[in-house]
Amino acid sequence: MAMFRAQEEETLQPLAPSLVKFTHCDRDIYSNSVPQQCPICGQNPGSSWDLEQAPISIPNPFVNAHREKCSFVLRPTRGHFLKEYDGCSDLHVGITSSTGIVHHYNETGTHKDTSGWEQCVSVPLVPPDQYALIHQWDSYLQEFSCNERWRPQRYDEKEHNCYTYALRFINGLRHLQERRIFTKEEFTERFILPRTRRASKYITLCHEVSRNYYYMIDHSRWNGRT
Ligand SMILES: [Zn+2]
Repeated sequence: MAMFRAQEEETLQPLAPSLVKFTHCDRDIYSNSVPQQCPICGQNPGSSWDLEQAPISIPNPFVNAHREKCSFVLRPTRGHFLKEYDGCSDLHVGITSSTGIVHHYNETGTHKDTSGWEQCVSVPLVPPDQYALIHQWDSYLQEFSCNERWRPQRYDEKEHNCYTYALRFINGLRHLQERRIFTKEEFTERFILPRTRRASKYITLCHEVSRNYYYMIDHSRWNGRT
């Protein structure tokens, strides 16, 4: 079963390659793995490392939303982050249930997806020890989604869209907890932009490395610029 699931996912989404960064010849060098020979000087890069130059792996910023409970999740409206996303493509958002079912709203109304969100950026909304909230999450989400506010006819691409739906759900819960609600700008700035910036950087690195094997940042040039 587990194996079948892994195979199934591979066909649904491009897998995120592993990325490492190491330092040699005064450059930060990104690659899929640390080579035997430095691409600049040809020496074994491991022979002269001190702690600051040792390789680190770059964490993959994407998660499978169907394995994320009680989270805000975001993906390109069409295609995948690592294949089609160009930094300004349309994004679509949703909220996961406690079992990873993605609830979302678009021009055809509300939906509950059990697949299709395998490569997402995620914002966890509930600390894992808040059992009472997690316990009630799915019924809140279900009830919220049935509101006539989310009929297809009410959809508006700019003013009443997937983001309106997700943020209104989050703010509804915050209101119940007597916590301050978020404006759209505030939620975007605090929770979404840091993650989408990290994702964009990761996508750029993946594309560069898949084209040229290495992506190098020159320290001296970088220092000169800043
Ligand atoms: Zn070198």
